[in-house]
Amino acid sequence: MKKVAVKLGINGYEIRVGSGVMANAGPWLKELGFTAKAVIITDSNVGPLYAAALEQSLAGAGFKVTVVEVQAGEAQKTLETAGALYQKLAAAYAERTTPVLALGGGVVGDLAGFIAATYLRGVPLVQVPTSLLAMVDSSVGGKTAVDHGQLKNTVGAFYQPKMVIADVAVLKTLPREELSNGLAEVIKMAALKDKKFFAFLEANIEQATALKPDVLEEIILKSTTLKAAIVARDERETGERTLLNYGHTIGHAIEAVSGFRIKHGQAVALGMIAANSIAVKLGMLPSAQAAKIESVIRRAGLSVAIPEFTGEERENILQAVRHDKKVLNGRIRFVLLKSIGSPVIKGDVEPGLIKEVLFGRG
Ligand code: NAD
Repeated sequence: MKKVAVKLGINGYEIRVGSGVMANAGPWLKELGFTAKAVIITDSNVGPLYAAALEQSLAGAGFKVTVVEVQAGEAQKTLETAGALYQKLAAAYAERTTPVLALGGGVVGDLAGFIAATYLRGVPLVQVPTSLLAMVDSSVGGKTAVDHGQLKNTVGAFYQPKMVIADVAVLKTLPREELSNGLAEVIKMAALKDKKFFAFLEANIEQATALKPDVLEEIILKSTTLKAAIVARDERETGERTLLNYGHTIGHAIEAVSGFRIKHGQAVALGMIAANSIAVKLGMLPSAQAAKIESVIRRAGLSVAIPEFTGEERENILQAVRHDKKVLNGRIRFVLLKSIGSPVIKGDVEPGLIKEVLFGRG
């Protein structure tokens, strides 16, 4: 087992990574000072596979465990589902000291995190991420949220977990497409912040898609170390954390306009390619570096071509880019690269250029 520390003073915590580490959850929760009860929130795909093992580990350490399952999928990340979950916690007599364990991908992590942040004004949260995306990204950093209306992640809180337990063994059941989606965030982190890590990905991406445990472990350790450092310096995204939105401005727009048919990771991959094209056209990024990033994205099993959108959809994408959460005073701010490992925030990208890289000159 290896550890990464997220250094946030009294809100700091550890990410524990390894194969089979979920079996240690019970003793590790006791180590954190928890006793008596625990609630596992999971989804209908992950629950049947792993809830019993997690429950067993907790029960073995003396916890009385309640398992609550929601339907899998983004559609459950709502206030309505949260309302039903509060009732389940009340029925389990959950107290202020009762830890909530989020066992699942980013949807469960965000939803259970939101519950933990708000139930009884906050109960302890332990993230047990089971998708690669959740292991490398969403379980670390304390962003929790539910969707509201048409908008994603609009209602939420910054709420740090007490521990993250990332068991790479569970990735064997993760659908292939989801593994690739997680790799998109990994590639993002490496391209943004770490040339050496990016070279590691170039050398090992096929080993990652083949689920080689030591490669996956290295990827999770590296990605979480990079994210933890950024979060430690800028917990509430007032500065450096904004960089993590590389690929996300256009990515979010594509994801939303596709009605979430195009998954987050895939959309971010397309967003990175588009952001790189903008940087190349502005003479900031050498085209050979953009090509390297595109190649790793392709080899990770992701599409590199913007899908065909209707005229109306194209307009909606451009509109969504203009209204991204990260737009400041009406100016579109893009995270662009000068080279691999060296990002900049560009505050005045012309809408015409965005249109051109996404849909050509036509
Ligand atoms: P997800 O939670 O929907 O998981 C993807 C699919 O894989 C689901 O069907 C899930 O049931 C299944 N699954 C997960 N682990 C599995 C396993 N080990 N075996 C078999 N099936 C498994 O999606 P995701 O990609 O993990 O997360 C996306 C969510 O994360 C979005 O809601 C997004 O907004 C959020 N997110 C949050 C942050 C953050 O900082 N909080 C960052 C990025 C994304």
